[in-house]
Amino acid sequence: MNLLLFSTQDRIDSNRIRITDFRLRHLHEVIESAEGDSLRVGEIDGLMGYGEIIKLAADEAVLQVELTKQPPQKVPLQIILALPRPKMLRRILRTVAELGVAELHLINSNRVEKSFWQTPVLDSEVVEDYFLQGLMQSRDTLLPELHIHKRFKPFVEDTLPGLIENRNALLAHPGDFPACPAGMEVPTTLAIGPEGGFIPYEVEKLQQTGFTTVSLGPRILRVENAVSALVARLSI
Ligand code: SAH
Repeated sequence: MNLLLFSTQDRIDSNRIRITDFRLRHLHEVIESAEGDSLRVGEIDGLMGYGEIIKLAADEAVLQVELTKQPPQKVPLQIILALPRPKMLRRILRTVAELGVAELHLINSNRVEKSFWQTPVLDSEVVEDYFLQGLMQSRDTLLPELHIHKRFKPFVEDTLPGLIENRNALLAHPGDFPACPAGMEVPTTLAIGPEGGFIPYEVEKLQQTGFTTVSLGPRILRVENAVSALVARLSI
């Protein structure tokens, strides 16, 4: 945890916060804090700064905070991702937040197993928890936006054209396609397939909507690695 994040509920008043949960355990057990120590803090969706521990007990810590710094700019990237299996989803939620991606859209596709939609990982509190883990790692306070679209065709036909207006729309697909660009000249939308890949019909639909197919080369990367590699390349 490189940044201790807190929410309005943790505030005692304008410059003091109280923490009690896993963050308190982290202070005790991982960084072995003591009263008087200063650490980096940030308010979820707000400013960052430092907090001085003015009380450290077994059941609570109170910090005096001074917030002066804006969080880093979000990466102007919208990821459209076929819902991966829960274990991978957890890691991807963390990674998306850690890398500063602005928006994540989880979509259905032919090769997404129906049972994946039942996972508790998709509950909004669980999603937020993974996003927060990513933000605390990379020192950011701004939660990515998450949107869920359970039907492929209505999403692509009715929602996607509006989403990609004035953006560069890229479809990542392994193989003999132009290389994924390095950096973004304009805000970008990036579509990433499921473990089995998009089926030809889906690729065609995305292309018809305005997506350009790009590749990172002939190696078929695991979805979570494809996400990291593509985001890193685009946000250079
Ligand atoms: N079996 C599928 C691959 C699926 S990999 C096939 O052969 O097409 C899962 C997703 O990760 C892909 O849909 C793609 O969006 C992304 N991906 C994996 N490797 C990639 C690469 N080398 N270049 C671009 N995208 C890649």
